[in-house]
Amino acid sequence: MATKLLLTFSICRLIVTVGLTLDPSELVLLGVDGQLSVDPTDVETASLDFGRLTRATPPLAVLHPASAQDISQLIKAAYRSDFGFTVSARGHGHSISGQAQPQTENGVVVQMSGSRRGSGRKPPQPRVWPRERYVDVWGGELWIDVLRSSLEYGLAPKSWTDYLYLSVGGTLSNAGISGQAFNHGPQISNVHELDVVTGIGELLTCSEEQNSELFHAVLGGLGQFGIITRARISLEPAPQRVRWIRVLYSNFSAFTRDQVYLISLHAEPGSQKFDYVEGFVIVDEGLINNWRSSFFSPSNPVKISSLKSNGGVLYCLEITKNYHESTASTIDKEVESLLKKLDFIPATVFTTDLLYVDFLDRVHKAELKLRSKGLWEVPHPWLNLLVPRSKIADFEKGVFKVLGITISHPQFIVNQGRIPKRSVIYFIRWDHRSSAVTPDEDVFYLVALLRSALDNGEEIHSLEYLTNQNREILRFCDDARINVKQYLPHYATHEEWMNHFGNKWDWFYQMKMKFDPSHILASGQQIFTPTF
Ligand code: FAD
Repeated sequence: MATKLLLTFSICRLIVTVGLTLDPSELVLLGVDGQLSVDPTDVETASLDFGRLTRATPPLAVLHPASAQDISQLIKAAYRSDFGFTVSARGHGHSISGQAQPQTENGVVVQMSGSRRGSGRKPPQPRVWPRERYVDVWGGELWIDVLRSSLEYGLAPKSWTDYLYLSVGGTLSNAGISGQAFNHGPQISNVHELDVVTGIGELLTCSEEQNSELFHAVLGGLGQFGIITRARISLEPAPQRVRWIRVLYSNFSAFTRDQVYLISLHAEPGSQKFDYVEGFVIVDEGLINNWRSSFFSPSNPVKISSLKSNGGVLYCLEITKNYHESTASTIDKEVESLLKKLDFIPATVFTTDLLYVDFLDRVHKAELKLRSKGLWEVPHPWLNLLVPRSKIADFEKGVFKVLGITISHPQFIVNQGRIPKRSVIYFIRWDHRSSAVTPDEDVFYLVALLRSALDNGEEIHSLEYLTNQNREILRFCDDARINVKQYLPHYATHEEWMNHFGNKWDWFYQMKMKFDPSHILASGQQIFTPTF
């Protein structure tokens, strides 16, 4: 009853707000089980994202769906309406440049995450299939909740993002990358099946075998072809604990050589290997000491200032080994034998040991700290680039030059410790049939410049300064012909998008015409213009 009342009230408001642009009779007939809301808080939330770089035109309404059918009803109404409106799925709103917000005056947002609040019907809970080793989850489920549900059966997904408060539909629309990707591929390579509501409102199940075109198009598809309402995600027995190790390098070639070596072990059957490989750059001595003391106690304490760094820059290789308590007695030996083969600065091994779940959820701790200091809800001009291996050394030299990094200029990459950051990953398993775009080489790195803008009067922390640096980095890559691809891409023109997709563009366009011919979905990506 309460839901019905709210819905009626909402629709009345919607009719008044929408005026002539939206055919109200179609929305009145929607009859969704969830909530179609014009509550100012919902509308305000839906017009902002984590990036806080722009505030979108507020959507006309926000749908909190109870089921895939609700979404299908809404999209059918958008598709058939004479006036038309766009529909944007919003996961947890952790995009940077308004990708989950409508770009149009008449947009409706489907709030996929957090739809279980309030009364009335709710999206389905995760369902684990222990024998088959997969879990079925709602498209708006957060990865932290996927983890919790799977752990009840001693299982866990194989491939992660560094941060777990992201939605399944949101990361599968990009790729979902973390330090396990060299071993298992990104998250889009670990999906058995999807339910998708297309841009004409059809609810289709798709997989490698069934509706395979849609399956590959949706994975990494930036929300262009449909809204993912269910994903079947591959699971493995969950490790109990993690040995987490960081070692330091002053030489960039040694650092990348060791990464490549560690990752190549993946291809050698039966060989010992680490389970996670990332790395990051440290550019400030104060930060190094600070990071070390708050994070690890090295077994051989070392004075960082005594290390020969490359003009104030050190490279940190970050690796983990998962284990079960029953094999705890051998973990030290295994780690030691792997570390022996590496060329890091002697006596810079920083080690900690923690529960698997605490390792996976590590960034949330940083989030809570930042929130308490008011440093989470600030603009984030992030730039994520996939860099081909053959050009990583040129990229490293050039980008440091662009950023003018010296020891007294410490806000690059590690971002003053605000978000612990990866910079380099090497991929072995990436399914090129998906929509996700990578450089034209089998081996490439993800370089993540994750910086926060601060309004503290210092120019180098300002949004304008950081945004200009990002532009300069992209310009440098163009000039030096480093064929980078943006991850979580943001472009404003059609030409830039065609260039981004390269030889995938024709196929991408065909899939759009097939599954969302009126360009209703995910207009915030600014790839296609709605046809009404
Ligand atoms: P949203 O921002 O809400 O949506 C992103 C896009 O997906 C939009 O176009 C939206 O319309 C579309 N979309 C959302 N839900 C659906 C759905 N169900 N069906 C179809 N389309 C949908 N990424 C990594 O790969 N690795 C990381 O380690 C990583 N760490 C991060 C850490 C932080 C703190 C943040 C803020 C982001 C991080 N990301 C990482 C980026 C993240 O993967 C993207 O922001 C992604 O978009 C997921 O966020 P979201 O669920 O909030 O999606």
